[in-house]
Amino acid sequence: MGKTKSSKKKSTESVLHPFCNLPKVDRRPLPEGLNPIRERLIRVVEKKWANGTQLRYYFFDRPTDGGGRWKGPKKQQDVVRKAFKAWKDLGIGLEFREVDTREEAEIRIGFDQRDGSWSYVGRDIIDFAGDPNERTMNFGWDLTTSYGWDTALHEIGHTLGFPHAHQNPFAGIDWDENAVYNYFSGPPNYWDRQTIDWNILRKLSPQEVEGSDWDPNSIMQYAFPAGMILHPEQYRNGLEPEPGLSQIDKDQVRLFYPPIEGNDVKKLLPYESQRLNIPAGAQLNFKIKPDYSREYVIQTFGWADTVMVLFESTEEGPRYIMGDDDSGTERNAKIVCRLTRGREYVLRLRLYYSYIAGDCAVMMY
Ligand SMILES: [Zn+2]
Repeated sequence: MGKTKSSKKKSTESVLHPFCNLPKVDRRPLPEGLNPIRERLIRVVEKKWANGTQLRYYFFDRPTDGGGRWKGPKKQQDVVRKAFKAWKDLGIGLEFREVDTREEAEIRIGFDQRDGSWSYVGRDIIDFAGDPNERTMNFGWDLTTSYGWDTALHEIGHTLGFPHAHQNPFAGIDWDENAVYNYFSGPPNYWDRQTIDWNILRKLSPQEVEGSDWDPNSIMQYAFPAGMILHPEQYRNGLEPEPGLSQIDKDQVRLFYPPIEGNDVKKLLPYESQRLNIPAGAQLNFKIKPDYSREYVIQTFGWADTVMVLFESTEEGPRYIMGDDDSGTERNAKIVCRLTRGREYVLRLRLYYSYIAGDCAVMMY
């Protein structure tokens, strides 16, 4: 995708843009007194998908959906299709597939023009919007403009688990809060104070962001007109991120979802434990070909926080069966499931944290 220098753009161009408004969800509670390194590693990873997951997306298609307002014209849908492809073309291990029934889809997309643009963040899609008749993403303005294209990339970025860049606590942004309230309560956003706090002034906790650098050119960054940012000083006259995905966006998404090569996948055999000798945040992938059709237990052992997800390999790509996340708790991740001889399964296991590197394992029995 062409990335053009936007330095000649006037920051005032952003003045008329409506902005993404994220659904408000509570932070997952973690036990008090967790060691801060452990908490940080949990917060950075907890909304990300297991790499290799196939995320299926669906466009609402009936005149009854949302009173007819969720159905979008093909031209708008095509921009979203292209934006999924743009993320995929970075070589990431996630897969996207369009499906025509809502029950099959993790991502369900509406085009209600009265409801702004938004998406749930990463795995919140499953935890907070599991009803197949509900949207997990909405587009509330024309996507066929260059701003609309960036909007499509931005909302998909949320779906992949990325938060707003300007809420990064390392950005060190000091706001002129009155100017921010004034501006965003007016057209075209008409937000109330709570919504402005949620999307702009609220700083993410340092635990929730990867790395310590703020990327003002991220696709996850809003544009701000002059007079909102007091510090850093170079943004007093406004901040206009360059269009498209930034280099750091590309690096970040490849860090969490690197390409999966065939030889990255080991075999998981019954009663043979596999050591999790990987750094925090990394993932191991195991192939399972059961000799018998029976109930199996797949479990981690040792002091580690992991999220484990089991998929069946099918012609339409990996089909999610079940998962378990033991992060922040004293228990171990465990999946109990009937597997069928003749079929093939993939276990994907991401390590949040281990007390001693490599001091944990996974076994199937
Ligand atoms: Zn957003």
